[in-house]
Amino acid sequence: MKHRIVVLGAGYAGAFAAGSLARRLSPADTEITVVNAVPDFVERMRLHQLAIGQDVAFRKLADIFAGTGVRLRLARVTGVDPERRTVAVTGENGENGDGELAYDTLLYALGSSVADHGVPGVAEYAFDVTGRSSALRLRERLVGLGEGGTVLVVGEGLTGIETATEFAESRPDLSVALAARGQLGAWLSPKARRHLRHAFDRLGITVHEHTSIEAVEPTRAIAADGTTIPAHVTVWSAGFAVHPIAAASGLEVAETGQIVVDRTMRSVSHPDVYAAGDCAYAIGENGRPLPMSCASAGYTNMQATAAIIARLTGSEVPTTGLKYHGNHISLGRRDAIFQMVDRDAQSKSWYLGGRSAARLKSGVLKGAGWSIVHPTFGMPKRKRRLATAPDRAGARAAA
Ligand SMILES: Cc1cc2nc3c(=O)[nH]c(=O)nc-3n(C[C@H](O)[C@H](O)[C@H](O)COP(=O)(O)OP(=O)(O)OC[C@H]3O[C@@H](n4cnc5c(N)ncnc54)[C@H](O)[C@@H]3O)c2cc1C
Repeated sequence: MKHRIVVLGAGYAGAFAAGSLARRLSPADTEITVVNAVPDFVERMRLHQLAIGQDVAFRKLADIFAGTGVRLRLARVTGVDPERRTVAVTGENGENGDGELAYDTLLYALGSSVADHGVPGVAEYAFDVTGRSSALRLRERLVGLGEGGTVLVVGEGLTGIETATEFAESRPDLSVALAARGQLGAWLSPKARRHLRHAFDRLGITVHEHTSIEAVEPTRAIAADGTTIPAHVTVWSAGFAVHPIAAASGLEVAETGQIVVDRTMRSVSHPDVYAAGDCAYAIGENGRPLPMSCASAGYTNMQATAAIIARLTGSEVPTTGLKYHGNHISLGRRDAIFQMVDRDAQSKSWYLGGRSAARLKSGVLKGAGWSIVHPTFGMPKRKRRLATAPDRAGARAAA
């Protein structure tokens, strides 16, 4: 019987991992299945562009995995039973009805979604750009918003900054504001912070600093001190949260709900389960949890696949890089900030800004997408066969 590897989620972490596993493991003794809720590879890093009306095309997962041997199951994951080693799914191939998949090795990469922090009105009235369907809902709303319409972006993190600047650049007819709990760009180096300020001024974005939004209503947001900010559209960008499936399944999770993994991305509670991307609580080389980012999705999925392959083929488990270099923030299409960080995750004084940073960011986005939609690139001539069970046990003991 073939060894069944099931990958949950085909975002940056899951889609790349599935391609990577299929490239290197022989189909003679492994069967790789990817479960994803939607039929496309959604480049989440472009969802604020999609929301503001730009043309963003997403590739079909079926086309991406054609010829790789990866089986695609379009279904929503509703639960994992790590004791029985099964995954519960629903709505398979667009149909109603529940199903179950059995696995020998699971790679959990379901990503994250919006964190509403329980703030009243967010679920009912706010929009977000964390998933394709929510970005499309926002897009539709913005199309209907005429000149002088007010948009409030809540959150001064990377997504909030990228969203506010993208919206202001693409729709100068709108009045865009951003609510920041602290100071805008406080974590950036002084020079990068100044750059950010200039970009906001140039784009005419109003910044409400030290403003914690405590409620969202249909046409305004209310801050903790009672101030009201008019907003025909409120875009909630106050962080990402992971799906509660992992916690509910009995896997050991951190306070964040992310799966706690060891250095090889293996669940500390269930050795047949690996996690990668936003849903993994992985400690980076600087001793701190890796941030939720595309770069972390890359590092964690590469480590997870390297470990899975090594353990299955009976070879030594390699450690691959788990780095946090910094942040690359778009400020519309023609400006960006690339801020490097040191080993303590503090911003270095050097940063790159302006058009060259924007070009670099555009290259990063293209590169990330390209590596996923070309899963057979660099295919080795000979794929690796699985070790026999006793070999695997030996390798496991050695690891
Ligand atoms: C607007 C925006 C801009 C961003 N910009 C940057 C940036 O510039 N740089 C950066 O590093 N990061 C950026 N990020 C963050 C980055 O996109 C995420 O960290 C990254 O997508 C994480 O990858 P992932 O594979 O873990 O999750 P995802 O890419 O979210 O993939 C998860 C996959 O799982 C699927 N899925 C989820 N739940 C289920 C379910 N129950 N059943 C079946 N399938 C399911 C989803 O459909 C998706 O395909 C941005 C995010 C957003 C929203």
